[in-house]
Amino acid sequence: MTQAPRITLIGGGLVGALLARQLAQHGFAVEVFEKRPDPRRAGFLGGRSINLALAERGLQALRTAGLADEVLRHAVMMRGRMVHTPGGASTLQRYGVDDSEVIWSVSRGALNMLLLDAAEATGVRFHFGQSLLGADFDRCRIRLADEAGSTREHAPGLLIGADGAGSALRAAMNAYAPLGEHIEPLGHGYKELEIPAAEALPPALAQQAGGADRFALEPHALHIWPRGGYMCIALPNAEGSFTVTLFLPATGAHPSFATLPDAATARAFFAADFPDLLPLIPRFDADYAEHPVGTLSTLYLDRWHLDGRALLIGDAAHAIVPFHGQGMNCGFEDTVELTRLLAATPGDSAGAFAEFQRIRQPNANAIAAMALENYVEMRDSVADPHYLAKRALGAKLAGRIPGHYMARYRLVTFTHLPYAYALERGRAQDALLEELLRDTPDADAVDLDAAARLIQSTLAPLPDSRHG
Ligand code: FAD
Repeated sequence: MTQAPRITLIGGGLVGALLARQLAQHGFAVEVFEKRPDPRRAGFLGGRSINLALAERGLQALRTAGLADEVLRHAVMMRGRMVHTPGGASTLQRYGVDDSEVIWSVSRGALNMLLLDAAEATGVRFHFGQSLLGADFDRCRIRLADEAGSTREHAPGLLIGADGAGSALRAAMNAYAPLGEHIEPLGHGYKELEIPAAEALPPALAQQAGGADRFALEPHALHIWPRGGYMCIALPNAEGSFTVTLFLPATGAHPSFATLPDAATARAFFAADFPDLLPLIPRFDADYAEHPVGTLSTLYLDRWHLDGRALLIGDAAHAIVPFHGQGMNCGFEDTVELTRLLAATPGDSAGAFAEFQRIRQPNANAIAAMALENYVEMRDSVADPHYLAKRALGAKLAGRIPGHYMARYRLVTFTHLPYAYALERGRAQDALLEELLRDTPDADAVDLDAAARLIQSTLAPLPDSRHG
């Protein structure tokens, strides 16, 4: 029997920690080098609550690692989008058919710490405060620096980079043999602000905003304030607060981050564009002044690996914009596939890495495209009558012919069908909805029997293994 190789992971973030756990569960000896100090001791990001949407793909990976129940214990269910209009009205657009199709708001810090604990419990060795500086692939050595700046060499065995969008391992691999890297900046940035738990606000305010329990807004929704070229969103945190994210062009005409350089200009902009949201953010000036503007890009690579020596995974291989809430979910799906492949052929890392790229790259490209499209949908279309008519007709068809029609959002969010399939199927379904609504703006005016016949005669049935 071939002995399982030693594996070195760079990056103990969400993807690195979950991958480490699964590889160790399959008998690999795993070491992880992580640039930051141990968050369980140092505190995560200075205690700021930053959250993420966890969907079925990510949950399935956590189930595989035996961690889904524990993660869900600390998560807040989100049934759909609560769309807040400029006039102050709000409507819930459900994501799925019922509460079996929901997404979950999880704390990034708490999830990372849970994954670190779980990986350590399976025998993974973490080295915190250790940055990858570079790699000598001919000598099979990596160079690391500790927090004091002392450097040393390490013989890594198999080398896997889970070190995020700015991956140092990717830079080292690219310098050795070009990977065909292409980075497409979105041109929009983001800034996080906080709505505190309801008890920190005047009671009438939370009541008026539709809050419940300790939350200042409806807790079981992902809130969106779409405003055309920009938007705010808010996701609930288990302790009652919400993390608000403002997405806005980075530069250019007002409003952009360039035209809102300080809290005073930003406050005036919020008072005009998000008047119902501003009073819920009592620390607005401090949050705006202190929190950085994050940048957003899509990363494309021709190659994710250097024969059998080094491989990139998660954001290091395919960072995407966050508008489908799938970056982590996609990275988590990666971890299951890679573990399966390495466990099946532990002596053939080159074969496993090549197969990993063959399977995952078309799917990473597909979710990258859908995430970009979803920005337009979230900031603009969710308030557009034609979009709403298509959505309404789609919902009727999904009820009438569930074996033939499923909205693309549901295919991405609630199934395990490949992202590339969801993209292709979504395009075909959308073309048919456009055709059905060509002569009427009203979903109720469409003859549903004829519409169902058209779809059944044009499209193949959805695969049976939708949830399998
Ligand atoms: P990271 O989380 O970036 O982790 C990389 C790790 O590597 C870090 O711990 C870092 O310290 C370490 N590291 C970096 N350089 C080195 C080095 N030189 N040496 C050693 N260690 C190093 N995804 C979702 O699924 N749902 C969402 O709702 C969602 N919302 C998002 C919102 C925003 C605003 C953004 C920006 C992203 C969002 N994402 C979301 C995407 C998600 O955050 C990423 O896909 C996910 O964090 C990728 O995990 P990763 O482990 O690959 O990279």
